[in-house]
Amino acid sequence: MRIELNSAPPATFPRAAVSRPTSTEAAPPQDSVCLSGANPAEVSSGPAKHSASGLAVRAGTVALAVAAGITGLSGLAQAMTPVLASPPQAPLASQVRVVEASTAGVNLFSLAQTPAVSSASPASQAVPLALLASQQAQPAKAGTTQKVPDSVKQLTPEFFKQLGDIGYNYNKIPKGQFVLTFDDGPNPKVTPKILDTLKEHKIQGAVFFVTGANAQRYPDLLKRIVAEGHVLGNHTWSHPDLTKVSQATVLSELKKTDAAVDKVLGYDYPLKLVRPPYGATNKSVLGTLHDKYGGKSVVWQVDSLDWRVQSDLRQGKKTTPLTDRIVSGVKAMDKKGNGGVILMHDIHSNTAKDLDKVLDTLEAKGYKMISILDVGKPASK
Ligand SMILES: [Zn+2]
Repeated sequence: MRIELNSAPPATFPRAAVSRPTSTEAAPPQDSVCLSGANPAEVSSGPAKHSASGLAVRAGTVALAVAAGITGLSGLAQAMTPVLASPPQAPLASQVRVVEASTAGVNLFSLAQTPAVSSASPASQAVPLALLASQQAQPAKAGTTQKVPDSVKQLTPEFFKQLGDIGYNYNKIPKGQFVLTFDDGPNPKVTPKILDTLKEHKIQGAVFFVTGANAQRYPDLLKRIVAEGHVLGNHTWSHPDLTKVSQATVLSELKKTDAAVDKVLGYDYPLKLVRPPYGATNKSVLGTLHDKYGGKSVVWQVDSLDWRVQSDLRQGKKTTPLTDRIVSGVKAMDKKGNGGVILMHDIHSNTAKDLDKVLDTLEAKGYKMISILDVGKPASK
């Protein structure tokens, strides 16, 4: 299946190879509902996906499999590794775009038959379709008196419209400005530290692309993200490659996550920013995302490759520090004359550990971390 980027990638970008999956994340495996590294798109016909290191593509996390008590999958992952050789290196400056990707996770869900949905607590079944339908049908809050934070009130249809889809070549963020995004959480060991660090740096409006399963599992973290001025995005319920499932599944993955978030927060949260797992989309997926779900696709321009740092460190390998990876990514955006969206994951302990240094360094170099809510505004701070 052909996978299309939201924006056509420069022809100079090579196909990225898929790195070997990692075993488990430092974060509790059972919390890593998504196989962060798994990237079916990459294995088959993914878009050009690149990394600041030129190796691209995320290592897989067989955490779910481990959590689900499935054995043998690590071996499978390992066995698949040789297939995924390194790609030609692209010039560093052109390697800002990377897809969160990887390999063996591809079939982990199907093999295991225990996707996040079913491996999660029984409560994951607590959102009946009828409720989903009713919540989707009613933009207004369903009889709740929960206070809606001001930051949430800014997530208006007008805001989403002017923001548009954020593809790999998005140019509405001014040079020197970046929006931080964190995927795959919330995670009880990592997300709180990241929130603490963002607070210390007085950064708001980072986008946390949560999976529905984790949102449901960690309601207090979800509430904290919103309470501290950040924005929630939809990273699907169980992290499938949306180009490889039916459009009905695409829609149900998004709606179920939306409903779970609403249930936790107690009001109708406009969970319209959608980050397709692995950044994999095609016309069909985007059509469903836009027309049936009413969302905007949000990918990234700077991939921190934080999963690789975590993976390298776990294996005792030398690695490029997260700060260096991000600095090279933002410099590449300088050359393009734009700012952009930075991809990280709030499931990797190293990301939480290094974030303060990353932000210190970026701030010292004059970069500004802005709120997604300020993107596209005439007087962006
Ligand atoms: Zn993800």
